Amino acid sequence: MFEAREVDLAGRIGRLHTAHGTIETPAFFPVIDLERQEVSLEDISRLGFRQVITNAYLLLKRYGREPAEKGVHRVLGWDGIVMTDSGAYQILQYGSVDVSLEEIVRYQAEIGSDISVILDIPTGDTDRATAEWSVEETLRRARRALALIRDTKNLWVLPVQGGRYLDLVEKSAREARKIPGYSIYAVGSPTVFLEKYDYYTVLSIVAAAKRNLPPGRPVHLFGAGHPLIIPYAVALGIDMFDSASYILYARDDRVFTSTGVERLDRLHYLPCECPHCSRYTPQELLAMEKRERTRILALHNLCMIRKSIDETKQAIKEGRLWELLEALSHHHPSTYESMHAIVENADYIYRFSPRVRGVVRGVRAYTSRSLANPRLHYYRYRVLGFKYEPRLNNKKTLLLAPYPSDIENCPRPDPASEIYILLYHPVLGVVPSELCGVFPTIHVHWPERAPERGLLSQMVRDVVGYVSRVLERHPEMRVVVDARDPWGVRKDIVADLGLE
Ligand SMILES: [Zn+2]
Repeated sequence: MFEAREVDLAGRIGRLHTAHGTIETPAFFPVIDLERQEVSLEDISRLGFRQVITNAYLLLKRYGREPAEKGVHRVLGWDGIVMTDSGAYQILQYGSVDVSLEEIVRYQAEIGSDISVILDIPTGDTDRATAEWSVEETLRRARRALALIRDTKNLWVLPVQGGRYLDLVEKSAREARKIPGYSIYAVGSPTVFLEKYDYYTVLSIVAAAKRNLPPGRPVHLFGAGHPLIIPYAVALGIDMFDSASYILYARDDRVFTSTGVERLDRLHYLPCECPHCSRYTPQELLAMEKRERTRILALHNLCMIRKSIDETKQAIKEGRLWELLEALSHHHPSTYESMHAIVENADYIYRFSPRVRGVVRGVRAYTSRSLANPRLHYYRYRVLGFKYEPRLNNKKTLLLAPYPSDIENCPRPDPASEIYILLYHPVLGVVPSELCGVFPTIHVHWPERAPERGLLSQMVRDVVGYVSRVLERHPEMRVVVDARDPWGVRKDIVADLGLE
């Protein structure tokens, strides 16, 4: 049903097989509503989307038995994959729906949707007692629905609830994985946080859920249609997204840009190359008839979402997802916080991120946050943790020197010499001289002429920690610090080691 083909961080490019074909994940499901669809399904298909999501509760209210008789694909006029939601969103908006769990589950099987959701209780942003109830009630309903979903062709989605209470999210996920019969898990109701640009909370919820769900199963994030959060959610292991934001924002004359969401009337230029908006100036669009403008802006917004998905996939292919996240982290304060959520969950990410790749690519490092990049972390873990043993036998002096800016100047190891040269490096911490100029030390690109203060102070801590451990093992060894001082930290190293 689902296979992960390529992995980077905890993100993956996978394949999801459904009754109406296979899609590559991460995938975005545009929310469609037949009653109000300024963007046609042909337009959505032309943009490369093979999948849509619509609301089964609204289908039942408006069309009754017709979709059950004809099939939802024919009613929508869509031969790709159809996911249906159950009315849980309406519960979040209006408090309740006048349909039972049994009724809506049976209906989704009858209309033949490919991916379907039980009638869960979204937590939203609420008090703890209500959140606890939404977790328990969703799990009760998931168990109750089991008899109904058995022997259907649909892939059934079990939402994980708990909202901002991460212990409840963890419990919800742990309990959910014990219930058989569900192919896909989902992280419920992040919309309330997304509207406030609170990506950090959404990603913390995602991480709490993913840590407790079976890693081989696909996980959907409900209502997440901001292009900027997609790469971070994928990095934590989200495979599917859905949202109506592309059309809701368009109706409100708001557009996605590379740095967030902007009102059309505040834009002097449209910095976009998509075929829909690039023919017009913002002024021309504003002068247009409302429905046509909404259509163009919605298509533009979908293009921005697709671009975000494609960039994320390309980064996974190249093993550069961490670097993409770091680059995006300066696009908005919320993405800066998102990067913080990624660093906080690095231990979880390391469980999945491949250590070795076929093609060796350079690692780009910018700030002390970059040090948690798995590709740097593995080196630092090995060397700073003495998993790699420096060749110190018969050496009497440890000479600390800055890593040369030109690898031509790497010291040549001399077995006859009594001096052991240990190089210090603002990204790698320390480099035993025999590793100078070889993989991975030559593959690190960092702003040598403008190093961040945080990188330098971390390096001083790394050097002092490393040398102290060497001296524990070789107390007779003399430590000398080379006079060269390209980063202005020599006096700190000397003072912290108590040398002068
Ligand atoms: Zn555009």
